[in-house]
Amino acid sequence: MQTFSFNPIGTISSCYKEKFGIPRQPNLVQSAEAQLYLNQEFSEESVRGLDGFSHVWLSFIFHATQAQGWKPMVRPPRLGGNKKVGVFATRSTFRPNPLGLSVVELENIEASPTGVILHLRGCDLLDQTPIVDIKPYLSYADALPQAQSGFAELAPKTDIQVEFSDQAKSDCQRAKIRLSADIETVIQQILVLDPRPSYKQGKETERIYAMKLYDFDLKWVYLDNNKIKVLALVL
Ligand code: SAM
Repeated sequence: MQTFSFNPIGTISSCYKEKFGIPRQPNLVQSAEAQLYLNQEFSEESVRGLDGFSHVWLSFIFHATQAQGWKPMVRPPRLGGNKKVGVFATRSTFRPNPLGLSVVELENIEASPTGVILHLRGCDLLDQTPIVDIKPYLSYADALPQAQSGFAELAPKTDIQVEFSDQAKSDCQRAKIRLSADIETVIQQILVLDPRPSYKQGKETERIYAMKLYDFDLKWVYLDNNKIKVLALVL
């Protein structure tokens, strides 16, 4: 059998420092910015003309889960985590070839003698994700409003109410200045998606949840099943 090997063309820098809490698809947390740093061998010429496109497809490696292998059947979160379907009917990270595909917003391209950086929004990618290819999004071919989407016909629910404690509000203010990002909106957009595993959803818990975001640990609790309180951003 033929084998193929590819080298990454660049690396993502994103605010998502661990898997937990990352949106499960792109364009759900539009306020979060990310950067794609192309490897030195790719000069401005390799992206010339790409600035005319508002969105790009990124092919990437699920580098953080690749060592865990794959199984032919998986339990997608959209089916409540208790029904199995074939791996190729899902966007699971655990695949025979650990390749991911995300369409994301291309804000602008920064090219200098030291390298090329693509400024992106709406990524669902872990920090340091290796990128293997970039392709422009072609709306005439790629947008298919009549398409059927199996068990994931609708966008995920976003009806959870997110409130911030006084501590969290002042932590957000400081983080906004330190990181030059609209941290409160990013947190809001992440948490309304309810990052808990599906088997925990619908069950209130005393537990304090945490995820690593930017340079802090975001901590929150569920006041009831539809209400989250952000407790603090801990450095
Ligand atoms: N949109 C892509 C796709 O369909 O191929 C990714 C979908 S996958 C369900 C998205 C999840 O992959 C994220 O929520 C995060 O948990 C995980 N993820 C993102 N980057 C990763 C990486 N580099 N290695 C392993 N898992 C990653």
